[in-house]
Amino acid sequence: MKDSLRELLRYLSAGEVPETLVLACDHNPLPHIPRRVCALHYDACWSGAPLGSLAQILALGVSQIAFVPCSRGEGLGRLLQLGDVVFPGRLRRWETTHQGRFAGKWVEVSQLGVSRRSFLGLSTTCALDLHANWQERSAQAFALLGVSEPPSDLPPAWTLQVGKCSVCGVCVAACPHQALSLTPDPEDADVLALTQDLARCEADGACLKLCPEHTLTAQGHPTWSQIHTGATQTLTEVKTKICPSCRSRFPATAGELCPLCAFRQDHPFGSLMPR
Ligand code: SF4
Repeated sequence: MKDSLRELLRYLSAGEVPETLVLACDHNPLPHIPRRVCALHYDACWSGAPLGSLAQILALGVSQIAFVPCSRGEGLGRLLQLGDVVFPGRLRRWETTHQGRFAGKWVEVSQLGVSRRSFLGLSTTCALDLHANWQERSAQAFALLGVSEPPSDLPPAWTLQVGKCSVCGVCVAACPHQALSLTPDPEDADVLALTQDLARCEADGACLKLCPEHTLTAQGHPTWSQIHTGATQTLTEVKTKICPSCRSRFPATAGELCPLCAFRQDHPFGSLMPR
């Protein structure tokens, strides 16, 4: 589910948080609803929504989420079954057929404007950090709701593993979320540690694709509590030295010169075509 959820959370926390929130997707006509019911029309299908998205809405103080049944598949039934285990009594189907003269208004989540409070520069209070990414917000929400590890729905982040690393830093530069870093050991500046911030990883795989050694692999997912505590993991520590020719750092076991300078020394007039 795309992160227009952030806009939805901003909208809810800018006003009075509703007791019941009615949600509908695109797969059915929007039913008439009573006035004063907070009803949001979302541009993605809720029937396959991850529990983290629902946890974020509930963590704002919404008591119940009522879903307008979706005509596509049995996804909503599965979601409600699972939700009953994780958030008992807080998810249900919207079943009321409104017969009243005045119907309430559906709000389009894709067209939410800036709230009046934000426009006027007034602060809004939100139980979640709205600047955090989806999985960090979900981890915060699960913690606020007292859900330790939901039975399904692992965070989308990967736990990476690395084999023979040449500390080239390509993966660090490639990650669009700054989840990887290459830092010197505080006790030995010649030892470089490649570390991964699990909460920042969004599993888009740029590091895996671009690693010139093809040594990075994804080995499953972290837990929600690791995301919540901002855990980092050290992928490898490599003893390095400085190349006497170009002054760059490279693994101490690799020879006298760094791999690039060694290649240039062996092939003074040659070069390799990119593979
Ligand atoms: S994991 Fe690959 S891309 Fe990252 S520093 Fe090591 S060799 Fe370079």
